[in-house]
Amino acid sequence: HAASTPLRPEARAALEDALDLVGNPSGQHRWARTARRRLDDARDQVAGSLGVAPASVTFTSGGTESDNLAVAGVVGAVGGIPVCSAVEHHAVLEAVRRRGGRAVAVDSTGSLDLEALEAALVEAGDVAVVSVMTANNETGRLQEIDAVAEVVRRAAPSALVHTDAVQAACWVDLAEATAGADLVTLSAHKFGGPKGVGVLVVRGDVAIEPLVVGGGQERGRRSGTQDVAGIAATGVALAEATRDRVASAARVSALADRLLDGLVRSTVGVHPTLAGVPRGGRLPGICHVCVDGIETEALVVAAEQRDVMLSAAASCASGAAEPSHVLASMGLPADRAAGSVRLSLGWCSTDRDVERALVALPAAISQLRTGSATGAGRDPFGGATR
Ligand code: PLP
Repeated sequence: HAASTPLRPEARAALEDALDLVGNPSGQHRWARTARRRLDDARDQVAGSLGVAPASVTFTSGGTESDNLAVAGVVGAVGGIPVCSAVEHHAVLEAVRRRGGRAVAVDSTGSLDLEALEAALVEAGDVAVVSVMTANNETGRLQEIDAVAEVVRRAAPSALVHTDAVQAACWVDLAEATAGADLVTLSAHKFGGPKGVGVLVVRGDVAIEPLVVGGGQERGRRSGTQDVAGIAATGVALAEATRDRVASAARVSALADRLLDGLVRSTVGVHPTLAGVPRGGRLPGICHVCVDGIETEALVVAAEQRDVMLSAAASCASGAAEPSHVLASMGLPADRAAGSVRLSLGWCSTDRDVERALVALPAAISQLRTGSATGAGRDPFGGATR
């Protein structure tokens, strides 16, 4: 679910319903107006979930584009440099690096060091935008954006605050959690919508230089004929995620706790990465663990053979795992990070999924440690089951 969620049935219905609309939403005639109404409805739905005016909502091609637009668009419009946390998604990190910006340290739980942020802002001087994610995509660590915004207002009053809320969207009250941010990124496929649709919410009167120029769609912030069906499904998916949020967060955090506790109890050498962080500081749906005596990629393959799809969390487009900048920034030793995996759950996860994972994963881990096909050999870590 942290990598991508199944499409919600309501979103699928909206997608299918809009696929045959012929009109271009920028046109004048009846068919065009029908298409435009779908965009307006979706914009209203997204705006409703964030408590902003519909005009604040810009649709893009995904979270990556929205992150790039937030960083590069603000720097392009007003000059200065961008600053971000060291654990941002590469979509932010790379955009910040390209514009000569800097990344600020986090503590051992992955939480931004606010004193280091303040010092960096004062030292850097001409800061245009500060980008800090609402929740981390590898570990699920939540960050208080209001506290970040307070530091920015004090140390760099003219800088804007951007938050990548891609992972947080299903789990937090977006209006409340992102209230301190001028710019907010969302990605539809992380909350039960289709892949390839993103949102950049721009609060207030903020100057942004577009990355994509042309016909001036999306109030000039993002030209190009919109993906009407994808956007219609996005609006419905976010409305559903928002409606379902409180119940889903309670249900899924209980499932995730069961999964994590079950793994730790059944298998020696499994270390929850955010062990010291209270429930409220972590996303309900992400369990991040480091497993002694195995390599991440090998566990991904062994788990897949048992029909459990898990993630190396830090992967590049080729699918090959690369060392995690998030875990390195948290000061996790490389040998511990070498066996790190992310297990994530979401809106349609069930008890049965957890039960299956609690059978498959200990067996897969033991198989890798013993080198046997079944995991039944002698496990140097004491066997899969304590
Ligand atoms: N930001 C975060 C925190 C993410 O987890 C992701 C997706 O993995 C993205 C940005 C990129 O979003 P998209 O896949 O829509 O480009």
